[in-house]
Amino acid sequence: MEHNKAFYDSLEEAIPKILTEVPSSVLEPYDFIAIIYAQNTIYHGGLKPMARENLYIIGEKHNRLNSGEVFTHIGGHCHEFGHCLGLNHLAGGNQDSLEVDYFALMEVGGMNGPRKNGACPAGINPYYKILKNWVDDENLHPILDDTTGLVIRYDYFNPQYYIVKSRNYPENKFFILKNRLREGFDKYTPNNFDYTGCPEDPNGNQGGLLIWQIEYPSGIHLVLADDKISDHPENSLSEERSYSLDPFPIYQNQQCNDFTIPDLKFHHDQLSFISFKNIVWNDHTKEIILDIDLSNLQNPLQKSVEINFNLSLRENFEIASNVQLIVSNAGITIDSDSIQLNKNSSLQCNGSMHIEQGINFLMGKDTKIISYFEFHATGTKKKPIHFSSLYDNWDGIYIFNAGIAELKNCIIQKSQQRINQFQFRFNH
Ligand SMILES: [Zn+2]
Repeated sequence: MEHNKAFYDSLEEAIPKILTEVPSSVLEPYDFIAIIYAQNTIYHGGLKPMARENLYIIGEKHNRLNSGEVFTHIGGHCHEFGHCLGLNHLAGGNQDSLEVDYFALMEVGGMNGPRKNGACPAGINPYYKILKNWVDDENLHPILDDTTGLVIRYDYFNPQYYIVKSRNYPENKFFILKNRLREGFDKYTPNNFDYTGCPEDPNGNQGGLLIWQIEYPSGIHLVLADDKISDHPENSLSEERSYSLDPFPIYQNQQCNDFTIPDLKFHHDQLSFISFKNIVWNDHTKEIILDIDLSNLQNPLQKSVEINFNLSLRENFEIASNVQLIVSNAGITIDSDSIQLNKNSSLQCNGSMHIEQGINFLMGKDTKIISYFEFHATGTKKKPIHFSSLYDNWDGIYIFNAGIAELKNCIIQKSQQRINQFQFRFNH
């Protein structure tokens, strides 16, 4: 090359300049070109690791995750080469992607290994492999119906992927399940395999069920069994992560749905309507067994009554304890003097919910009203609408999926939680 490192680093990007200095006849025979410069990788300026079409650039040594300046192992190259193949960072640099960091080659997982310098990088996430047609059909298992006792085995050479789509949401939002243990290049994902952590965890640090949440192209995420990105957030470089970033389950028969912690909701609190239930780790066979419910609208421990015609509540009306009244694909009009929701019950509606003037809602402990579409509660000055508790705090009114909420002359009392996620149209 014609210049020294400092010169190329002073440019915005070194690759275009380098291309002008190398005769095209030298580059032409190759499908991909790696440009490796001497000594330490520089992370700012024109020499920072990056890819451009079929070329990438990186230094001979690098320093990531406090590894010290050491030989740039295969992971750093694989990551940049992934960009040459058209693979983006999973969540486009979004902070939300922190949970996938060490699980994904196209995040920090390229640096996994005994010294955190890429000697044993994480694999490519399943969605990219499927997009690239690198997964044989026989290893892809769409889940089309409610399923019980699904067994998911780890197979390092032929990973088995279970595709879970809800009936309620579009093609680009779904889940991919796999069992991930520690063979081969999976050995250091997401952390040191011999780290001993929480003794109660049934699968320890061996691996377990990964629930990939796909919202393409806005992001690819992992749902972590413990909902923890970090057990040492104040210094994420020096921590020994383990019982954060944890595959499922963290206890036997764990379940995960839109209302658990962690939850399965998509961005903007969009419900997935899916429930993974009774997730069990078999320590003998290293298999995961679970049940899948594809149209879950409520806590699965509770009873539900689902109707799909327009419901009009006119007489005094009461919902019994632990019952979820669900009106799907239809609306509700409430024009009754009083509505009583007993403990742990809910009123849920996928269509428009209209509450007329002067109605008293008596809300029991842990009750809620959930609207997935439009919510109109239109009281008048003389006849306001009251939402109040019987004895204890109730949970709240939830309006999901960017629904519209119109509340006029409403009095809301003793709610322990929130009225959230709605466009508030306040009319006097
Ligand atoms: Zn990158």
